[in-house]
This record gives sequence, structure tokens and C-alpha cells, in this order.
Amino acid sequence: MSPTTFDAIEGGCLCGDIRYKVTFTKSPEDPQNQPFLAAICHCTQCRKESGALLMHFIILNPPTAIEWLSSARPKEYISSYKAKRGFCGSCGSSLTYESILDPHVHAPVFALMTGSIDQKYLQGEEGKALSKASIQVWCDRAVKGVTDELFEYAERHAGNA
Ligand SMILES: [Zn+2]
Ligand SMILES: [Zn+2]
Repeated sequence: MSPTTFDAIEGGCLCGDIRYKVTFTKSPEDPQNQPFLAAICHCTQCRKESGALLMHFIILNPPTAIEWLSSARPKEYISSYKAKRGFCGSCGSSLTYESILDPHVHAPVFALMTGSIDQKYLQGEEGKALSKASIQVWCDRAVKGVTDELFEYAERHAGNA
């Protein structure tokens, strides 16, 4: 998990129909209780969904830290046996990833695509906790010679973390 100096961040989709706010309630100083985990995913599903060679996202802790500011909500679809993904129905921006596994068996996961966070929160030293991921997952699906050589600073996992 990564510390941040922000108490809250805002973001949304490209067309602006969907806006959200995330309030961080966990302490950045407590390594067991961080407000989010910033990660990079090399999996082929994230690649297809985003249209980019990899996906940046932040996993919220707790998953309920998000508040929708707009009346519009992401449209959702089941992307695998374990997750659904949300996007803007007007402009198509990728916004969310949420586990659909039994929450009594698997810890619930709610992730926001980092690229949907407003620019001002991703800039400079203050924004690095959000924009500079600490782990990367599904590295065995990375594009050899291209994305597998990026992000030397981030811990690597072959599959899911
Ligand atoms: Zn939109
Ligand atoms: Zn992925």
C-alpha cells in the first residue's frame, strides 16, 4: 500500500457524465492499514478493456471509500468468473473493477482505473503515491521487450498478487 498526502481525490470519465470522489479514511502511516494499493496489471483482459498495453489502478481500502457525485453510474458487465468491470455508457472510459466472488470467502475488491483520477492528483511528489504503482501483476502476460521492461521500481508478480 502507498501513502498519500491527499485526504480525498476526485475523478471521472472523459465526457464528464460520471464523477466520483474517494475519501481516504485509513492512515497512510500504518502499513497494515493503507487507504489504497496502487498497481499495474499486464493481463490480457485489462489490455483489451483499456485499449492500452497495460492498466494502472488503485484498489480502495475500504472498497466503500468511493462516492458517486454524478447521477450517472458506470455501466457494468461480467468480465470473468471473479469480476465485473464498469465503464461510462456515454464515452466508454474504463472506470472500475469489482470482485463478484462470495465476500464471505474472498475479501471484496474494488479498484478504480488510475487514469480516471483528475490530473491534479497525479502530478508531482504529492501524486506519486497514486500514479507510481508499488506492485505489478500478471507480469507473465506482459508484452516481451516492451511492457516487461517498464516500471523497474514496482514489485513483480507473475500472475495475480
Ligand atoms: Zn463519459
Ligand atoms: Zn488485469
